[in-house]
Amino acid sequence: MLGEGILKGMLETAKNFAGSFVSEERLTTVEYPEQRIPTIENTRVFPFLVYDGPDWQAGMRCVACQICEKECPPKCIYIEKSKDKKPDFVGKMQIYPARFDIDVSVCMSCQICVEVCPFEAIKMDTQFELATDDRFGDLLLDRHELAKSNEYYHSIHPAEAAEVDARLAHEKAVAEAKARAAAEKAAADAAAKAAAAKPEMPAVGGR
Ligand code: SF4
Ligand code: SF4
Repeated sequence: MLGEGILKGMLETAKNFAGSFVSEERLTTVEYPEQRIPTIENTRVFPFLVYDGPDWQAGMRCVACQICEKECPPKCIYIEKSKDKKPDFVGKMQIYPARFDIDVSVCMSCQICVEVCPFEAIKMDTQFELATDDRFGDLLLDRHELAKSNEYYHSIHPAEAAEVDARLAHEKAVAEAKARAAAEKAAADAAAKAAAAKPEMPAVGGR
């Protein structure tokens, strides 16, 4: 029937309105900001940069590959690569972002930057109270403002963060096993080369 959905919706609203006078269960709103509804796992607002360990600069996962910058639809990510390198989570020397800004007044919370990042370095925050009258000063977030610990990531997206940790731990174990195998092979090759280069001892007391 035409308009059936609208009537059903209005009936539900009417039931909640009348019921809210007699039952707390019918109160579907809260008195914000005194009361808050806890955010759920899939809540997403603006991106942040994940770091491991106690030092945000040393532990930042981002390697300034700029994939997110290229893929961001409204082009609100600005990255400058470092001139030097630092070890990443598997110990490989990588460049890092000397500058990483996001203009959250332009960001549309699409999460594409998160989906394209190969390093699990950028995730969606649940923090939404960013209202300000300083559009340029407060809404262009730099790498320090964007950096948040892996513990924080776990606190807002526990299931997703646990899955990411397991994947990174697996990648680290594979990289370490490869490095060990390469070191053992290099040592074996060096030993074989040394043995081949050793001159033969002349026979003693031979006729
Ligand atoms: S969430 Fe979307 S719009 Fe915002 S920075 Fe990421 S890719 Fe850009
Ligand atoms: S956040 Fe990810 S995709 Fe973006 S530059 Fe850093 S490593 Fe690359």
